[in-house]
Amino acid sequence: MFGLLITGVFFIGVVGGQQNASDASLSSAQGYEGSKVFSSVIANDRIYHDFLELRSQRKIAFLNDLMREKTSTLYFLVLQEDVVMVGERLQALGIPFYVVEEDLQSLLARENGGPQMFSNGLLEDGPFDLISYPSYAQILKHIDFYVKDPLRGKHVSKFIIGESYQGRPIVGVRFNRGHSEDKAVIFFECGIHPREWISITTCAWMIHEFSSNAAKYRDILDVYEVRIVPSANPDGYEYTKTHRFWRGNLRPSEKNPRCKGVDINRNFDVGEFCGPGTSQDPCNEEYCGDSPFSEPESHALKNAILVVQDRLHYYISLHAYGQLWMYPHSYTTEDAKDHERFHRKASAGARAIREMSGKNYTVGPIAQTLYAVTGSSVDWAYEHGARNAFVIELPPTQAEARGAMGFIVMPDKIQSIAQSTFHGIRAMIKSD
Ligand SMILES: [Zn+2]
Repeated sequence: MFGLLITGVFFIGVVGGQQNASDASLSSAQGYEGSKVFSSVIANDRIYHDFLELRSQRKIAFLNDLMREKTSTLYFLVLQEDVVMVGERLQALGIPFYVVEEDLQSLLARENGGPQMFSNGLLEDGPFDLISYPSYAQILKHIDFYVKDPLRGKHVSKFIIGESYQGRPIVGVRFNRGHSEDKAVIFFECGIHPREWISITTCAWMIHEFSSNAAKYRDILDVYEVRIVPSANPDGYEYTKTHRFWRGNLRPSEKNPRCKGVDINRNFDVGEFCGPGTSQDPCNEEYCGDSPFSEPESHALKNAILVVQDRLHYYISLHAYGQLWMYPHSYTTEDAKDHERFHRKASAGARAIREMSGKNYTVGPIAQTLYAVTGSSVDWAYEHGARNAFVIELPPTQAEARGAMGFIVMPDKIQSIAQSTFHGIRAMIKSD
C-alpha cells in the first residue's frame, strides 16, 4: 500500500544533506519546503503514547483522527528541520514508518492554483463562484450581496453571533421563507476547525443554493428555518492562509507566551472539562482552554444555540475529513438516549450519498467510532435542546487521504462534495 518503507539509517542518509535552517512552526506555510508526511501503524498503546509524546514536544503534527475499533494508521507531518531527529527517534523506539508525501509544498500550491492564495476565481460582487477557496472577507461580502439583493433577499437575512478573539464578526445567515417565527430550526456550524476548508465551502455552497435557488428546496425551506454559520472560527481561517494546518483560535496563552490557540471544539461545557481527547497544554493543538466557554468563539456559538433551543431540530457540525456520519455522545462511549433514531437518520444520509456518488460513509456515535473527546459543540447542543445532532466528516476517507490530502482538497472537488453532502443531509432530514 505504501510506496516506500524507510529504515532509520537509510532515511537519515537520504535527507541528511538537505537540511536548511527554517524557523517554521508545525502549521506554517512558509516552512513546508522539504517537509514530509509520514505514516506509522499504531499497533499498540505503547506506540500510541510514543507518538503523543512526540506531538507534545511539537516535533510532529497529527493529520488524522485515530479510529477506535481498528488498527489505526497515523499520518503525521514533520517539518524539514525535524525530519532527521524524528527518524532517529522512531528507529530507536523500533517503530516502522513510511514516507507518504515527499513534497507537501507543491500540493499546497496546487490547492491554491498558485502562490496567490484566496485571490482568484470570485466575482467582485455577485454569487459564490467556488472554484477556489474564498477569504473570510469574501464570504462576508457575498453574504451581504445575497441579503441586499431584492430578488433573493426577501427570505435571507444576516445575523451576528459574536466577535472572534481578534474582533472579526462571526456571521450567520438565516433563511426563513414565509417569515414564520416558530418553525423548527436546522443549524449548520462550519469551520470550527479552520484548516478543514472544505467544511467552510460546503456551508458557502448551501448559502448560495438557499439564496439563489430557494424554490428548488421548498421541501426544506417551507418546513424549517435554516441557520448557517459558515466560518465559526474566522481568525483561525484567516490564519490558515499562511499556517495551513491551524486548528484552534488565535488567543495567546497566558501560561506559555510562546503558544497560542484553543481548540474551540474542546471548550464547550460538556463532560469533564479538559477530559479525554483534549490537552491541558496550551502548546497542544487540542488545548481545551482555561475554562469552559473561555473563548469568544465557543461563547458565541453557545448563545446562538440558546436563541433557538426550543425549536432546534437539527444541529449539524461539518468537519473534515474521513467520510464519517456521527452523532452523540463524543464525551462518553455510552449510547445516547436517542441512539436508535440518530443511527437511523445518519444511515439514511449515508445511504443517499452512496446511491448518488458511490462514496461510503461510516456511521456511528463519535466516541465509539473515534476516541472520546470532551467539550464538543455537538454534545453541548444535544444536551441543550437539539433533538438531533450530527458531526459529518466530509470526504475523503482516511485511506484515500493518506494524511495531507484530507485537509487539502483540490478546488475542483468543492462543488461535488458540497452537492453530495447536501443531498445526504436532505435525505436524512426527510427520513422517518
Ligand atoms: Zn474538525
